[in-house]
Amino acid sequence: MFCSGPTIRTCKICEDKIDVIDDKVMIEGHDLHKKCFTCAICDTQLKLGGCAEDKLLKRQFGLMYFCPTHMLLNRDQKLDLLKKRFPVLEHLD
Ligand SMILES: [Zn+2]
Ligand SMILES: [Zn+2]
Repeated sequence: MFCSGPTIRTCKICEDKIDVIDDKVMIEGHDLHKKCFTCAICDTQLKLGGCAEDKLLKRQFGLMYFCPTHMLLNRDQKLDLLKKRFPVLEHLD
């Protein structure tokens, strides 16, 4: 076991604990695993300053980020692609 210090950080995307040895990123006050900091649609590894979250989708599905290509889509286009990727979302709309 590693001692992670007084604050236990959790990843805002997968909600698992972030270990001291894990690669992590901090964005807008959120701690994320680096491996979770990927485009919700295409899984591209994102960079700080090269990604966007979607406020509407966030309210519906939780925190997700998009790569520079997919951040330009409107909400319906994103939702379409997300539903193709995660069929379970079909029932949530
Ligand atoms: Zn994570
Ligand atoms: Zn993408």
